[in-house]
Amino acid sequence: MDIDLFEKYESNVRGYIRSFPTIFTRAKNATVWDHHGKSYIDFFGGAGSLNYGHNDPAVQEAMIDYIQRDGMLNALDKATDAKYHFIKKFQETILLPRGLDYKIQFVGPTGTNAVETALKLARKVKQRSKIVAFTNAYHGHTLGALAVTGNEFYHDDYYGVPLNVTKMPFDQYFDEDDQMDSIDMMRRYYEDGSSGYEVPAGIIVETIQGEGGINVSSIEWLKKLEKMCRDLDILLIIDDIQVGNGRTGNFFSFERAGITPDIITISKSIGTGLPMAIVLMRPEIDQWSPGEHTGTFRGNSLAFIAGATALKRWDNDEFAKEIRRKGEWVEKRFRAIKARFPDHISDVRGLGMIWGIESSIEGFCNEVSREAFEHGLLAETAGATDQVIKFLAPLTISQAELDKGLDILEAAIEATAA
Ligand code: PMP
Repeated sequence: MDIDLFEKYESNVRGYIRSFPTIFTRAKNATVWDHHGKSYIDFFGGAGSLNYGHNDPAVQEAMIDYIQRDGMLNALDKATDAKYHFIKKFQETILLPRGLDYKIQFVGPTGTNAVETALKLARKVKQRSKIVAFTNAYHGHTLGALAVTGNEFYHDDYYGVPLNVTKMPFDQYFDEDDQMDSIDMMRRYYEDGSSGYEVPAGIIVETIQGEGGINVSSIEWLKKLEKMCRDLDILLIIDDIQVGNGRTGNFFSFERAGITPDIITISKSIGTGLPMAIVLMRPEIDQWSPGEHTGTFRGNSLAFIAGATALKRWDNDEFAKEIRRKGEWVEKRFRAIKARFPDHISDVRGLGMIWGIESSIEGFCNEVSREAFEHGLLAETAGATDQVIKFLAPLTISQAELDKGLDILEAAIEATAA
């Protein structure tokens, strides 16, 4: 296979080939192989869509079985047994044990579709057009989702981004000795008619900003946000597309704060990497009319089959314990790396199995990512200026794969710092 074909007929600008210049041919759990037979440890994890690893044998078997019995592959929104089993498993394993009462809307196929559905629903239900999002947020690139995405790199005046959106400061935006945090600030604005700030229909937030640079909001901030939403009749939308599906050690990322969002967006790993996106909403805000919000690809049966199979991991507490144990291991190693390279690493932060190593030196993290790739590790950067190296390996990564990847990453940092 000739890698130049991609540049010639597609583009090396648009594809990940610019960061990982090879052709991948095979993948198993947290290891992938390219056409030369070279192996790589996968800390990229499909940007959070491979929490259950590549080619989990149980998932493979269930999909092969469905195909062999001629299950309906593209069903649009028809009721199929594949969808039935997914909904049942999701209810029984995830929602009911957590005391959560939500209706499911299948949108899709991508996370961005879930975000845009959530924004539309909030505006419809509250009959207000304003939406609030946060600095450094990432919710997608199509025009509606782009309106709530922070990073100015993605914006261009000529796109004519359509929504009525205000960006507010994310948690820890102000210094510790400032008198108020961003929620206090918002509340003041909304309660003071002279500010000209209209109360929004909804506020969309990631509890940990993934693409924005692994910015972890505090429990206190999330609780205050929820309270403000209740007090001022605003719908709280949690975008759990990247940090849901167990990434933080709980199935939903907001569980640690004990808050109950009105709307939740989920995608990526919910279909184990096959296209699926869902919106969860409190039953009383499911106010769609028949056919009002549709699309062709909302019923990927293989994603339902794969997703329902992967959810079996949540049948008991073992998986969550495993995530937390591995996460603590990563944290320990990352803190040791920071201590070893104090002139190059300015911060280490994360939760569960999402971690970031930040450098204030321009271009440092991109160089580490390139160096790591050379030595058999896929690790992406995050943050407005690519100032963070991101750890987002499959939650199922074996201890041997984890250690190997961490060793390659540390060696890449050493080589780049030298
Ligand atoms: N929201 C968040 C928090 C995300 O991380 C992403 C993808 N990185 C999206 C939305 C958009 O999802 P998709 O790329 O599947 O459209």
